[in-house]
Amino acid sequence: MANKSEGQKKQEALSYQKKNYFETASAAERKAMFEYAEGYKAFLDAGKTEREACAEAVKLAEDKGFTRYELGDALKKGDKKYFVNRDKSVVVFRIGEKDLEEDGIRLIASHIDAPRIDVKQNPLYEDGNMCFLKTHYYGGIKKYQWTAIPLALHGAVILKDGTRVEIRVGEDAGDPVFCINDLLPHLGREQMSGPASKIIDGEQLNVLVGGLPYADDEVKEKVKLTVLSILNEKYGMCEEDFLSAELSAVPAFLARDLGFDRALIGAYGHDDRVCAYPALTAVLDNESVHTVMAMLVDKEEIGSEGTTGMQCKVYEDLMEEVCLAFGANFRKVRQKSKCLSSDVTAAYDPNFAGVYEKMNSALVSCGTCMNKFTGSGGKGASNDASAEFVGEIRRMFASENVVWQTAELGKVDAGGGGTVAKYIANLNIDTVDLGVPVLSMHAPYEAISKADLYSTYLAFLAFMK
Ligand code: MN
Ligand code: MN
Repeated sequence: MANKSEGQKKQEALSYQKKNYFETASAAERKAMFEYAEGYKAFLDAGKTEREACAEAVKLAEDKGFTRYELGDALKKGDKKYFVNRDKSVVVFRIGEKDLEEDGIRLIASHIDAPRIDVKQNPLYEDGNMCFLKTHYYGGIKKYQWTAIPLALHGAVILKDGTRVEIRVGEDAGDPVFCINDLLPHLGREQMSGPASKIIDGEQLNVLVGGLPYADDEVKEKVKLTVLSILNEKYGMCEEDFLSAELSAVPAFLARDLGFDRALIGAYGHDDRVCAYPALTAVLDNESVHTVMAMLVDKEEIGSEGTTGMQCKVYEDLMEEVCLAFGANFRKVRQKSKCLSSDVTAAYDPNFAGVYEKMNSALVSCGTCMNKFTGSGGKGASNDASAEFVGEIRRMFASENVVWQTAELGKVDAGGGGTVAKYIANLNIDTVDLGVPVLSMHAPYEAISKADLYSTYLAFLAFMK
């Protein structure tokens, strides 16, 4: 190697460049990345709805010795606890050695709901010798992407007598699946000439669920009766029970390695379980001196509303109860607390380069990605983290050699999006967004890099150190 010129040395010392984590990782680290991804894929397959992801998180927490906490329970230093909110969101936490008023809480907040197709309350009908479920989509989707793919039905039904029945059909190898029909191209001239938002209408997202006529000439709607009979036999359901049901059609695919080299993972629901899983495992694996908390919340995709969304007071109540258990002033604790709002960001996609500003886009495999702010237009409706707080996080990552990057979602005026960051920041807790870059976000099949998944996990460990 020739000696570096003075200019080269200076350039190296002064310039900033993102690093591909696959390139900088040691062999051992690369092995750890791929091993970590296996646990993540299993988590994805076990939890395709917030209810299932919540249950799976509880299972993993219990495996690590965490026990159930209810508001008002006594707590002591070293306690490892989880708090379940209505079976749809879960907070896993560990009480550290440090004084709460002086040190605050190290908080990571992610969401475990994902865009999907929800079944309506009076959904079942027969037409053209087929039986369908009427639906109402959940979250921001491109509706046309959800047709002509295998779907599974997941959810819970509360029967007339109050019994809760869990439904999960379409995941096991022997299960039937469901689908939303699309129009054949031969008759699609008009459909294909309109805007993409009109290719499939919300009221056309009807899920095909049956085709066998009930063997009785005295009844009408024989196919519907067959479906009702099966639902009754398997789940004790009658048609009226749909009124108190939450059923969702989700893609029936399982999480798979993507690419010849298996660098990526293709799956449904990376947004935001790809951040929720590292948040969860970082708290479970952590031996921090700080009090640490991972909040896996619901309803982010529809505005963080309701009793299970981030805007609900229950999360604040929980933090306050933790403070009360140690006689700590909640206001002082909040002021000293720090939060990583951990949600996905858009990964730069060369196929759609026009909507990205490459210098400030998340590059696949360049590590977990910080969004100092989100929002749309002139940073509208965004938490904009301070330079001081970003500097603090930056030093934490540097001391633990975390490979990370910063980005905006896309070009300034291309669109926008938000996260739960602002709701936590509103509590007077310094907060910044940090998460995994995702390709095809909100599509039934999204992709992420194993390097970015693992880097996010390491970033959380560094944050809690
Ligand atoms: Mn998200
Ligand atoms: Mn989302």
